[in-house]
Amino acid sequence: LSAEAQRVIDQIEEGDVEFLRLQFTDILGTVKNVAIPVSRAEKAFKDGIYFDGSSIEGFVRIQESDMRLKPDPSTFAVLPWRSGRSARLICDVINTSTGEPFAGDPRAVLKETIERANEMGFTINTSSEPEFFLFEEDEDGRATTKTNDAGGYFDLAPKDLASDIRREIIHGLEEMDFNIEASHHEVAEGQYEINFEYESALTTADNIATFRTVVRAIAAQHDLHATFMPKPIAKINGSGMHTHISLFDENGNNAFHDESDEFNLSETAHSFLAGVLEHAPAITAIANPTVNSYKRLVPGYEAPVYVAWSDRNRSALIRKPAARVPAASRIELRSPDPSCNPYLALAAIITAGLNGIDDGLEAPDPIRENIYEFDEETRMEYGIDTLPGNLGEAIDALDSDEVIQGALGDHVYDKFAEAKTQEYDEFRVDVSDWELDRYLETY
Ligand code: GLU
Ligand code: MG
Ligand code: MG
Repeated sequence: LSAEAQRVIDQIEEGDVEFLRLQFTDILGTVKNVAIPVSRAEKAFKDGIYFDGSSIEGFVRIQESDMRLKPDPSTFAVLPWRSGRSARLICDVINTSTGEPFAGDPRAVLKETIERANEMGFTINTSSEPEFFLFEEDEDGRATTKTNDAGGYFDLAPKDLASDIRREIIHGLEEMDFNIEASHHEVAEGQYEINFEYESALTTADNIATFRTVVRAIAAQHDLHATFMPKPIAKINGSGMHTHISLFDENGNNAFHDESDEFNLSETAHSFLAGVLEHAPAITAIANPTVNSYKRLVPGYEAPVYVAWSDRNRSALIRKPAARVPAASRIELRSPDPSCNPYLALAAIITAGLNGIDDGLEAPDPIRENIYEFDEETRMEYGIDTLPGNLGEAIDALDSDEVIQGALGDHVYDKFAEAKTQEYDEFRVDVSDWELDRYLETY
């Protein structure tokens, strides 16, 4: 047993943990768990735990379905809402016939991207800012879109349940060793944002996957439903998941920082940024993977629509946030939403950026005005493209982008494109309430 695994075993023996949840993620980003009693922990670390992969979306066909979960001991964390009796371990998925990482495991996909960056002499720093809504449940326990904010109706507002829950969520996350930088009420009623501190790309993705489970579980204890659906309510802000990235070199210096540049961004950063802009349409398919994602990517609600970057304006796809110290020079990609698979989204974004560096791409000038207000002609003049307008267009963009396909690998790309094409087709043939309201009596 590795020293780290032994430490986990010791910790388990000292504490009250009875069950281990072995956690992994399917291609669509859904977190899956296999629970084992702690008595099997040692075996899990030594030999892994076998499971039937054919029952999991996008994994494998029945005839090749034996998969093995290999827990990563560095991810051991006691779940805060089970009075300390359950803990989770994030796992790599191993193909039992080859003994190699399974090509359909999103965590393996991200690990490969990270390795490429390492080979280029970089480590990757990422952080993310998931937003979500807390909604009330109806009498049957089903989610509504009614918010629970202390409304501004009375001066003596009733107890603001949501802000208590938010505190509980943050405590829960901190108990699980999350480093939370900040949290705040977002623009929309009932909407919240929690900001993670900088971590490695793998830890960030692991954290996002876990975060959604934690938030939902804690909200549910208060009969509220936490949703990461990108746009649950029309005509108000949707929920994004801004992603901050910088690369550090082998000496531990921020390779994105250059004092002499007008924006304090190095040539490496400019090329990375240019790579992300170049592959933005295909990245959208991964970072905005639902039909509903495209209801958020519309002008006027602080979500990006246009493929441009800015050191000032939040209407651009990429923003260069002000940095107080060199280590903080970074770029913020504003398109991802919290319905995405965080492993695949980071793999796609980072691959695009690394390609930009390899190809020595140059970034265009930043746009400093509010692009929402540009007319078509001005956008043409600046050469600003638009992000895909719906899931169908995004899949088309992915289908014609070999770099992003390469980031996913054949297995994940095929399964992902197949699942998303089907999802979009189902939506396309559906007749919505909007159509009935608009046409049923008019025609
Ligand atoms: N909620 C906005 C979005 O959909 C982002 C607001 C912000 O700047 O944090 O992306
Ligand atoms: Mg926000
Ligand atoms: Mg932000």
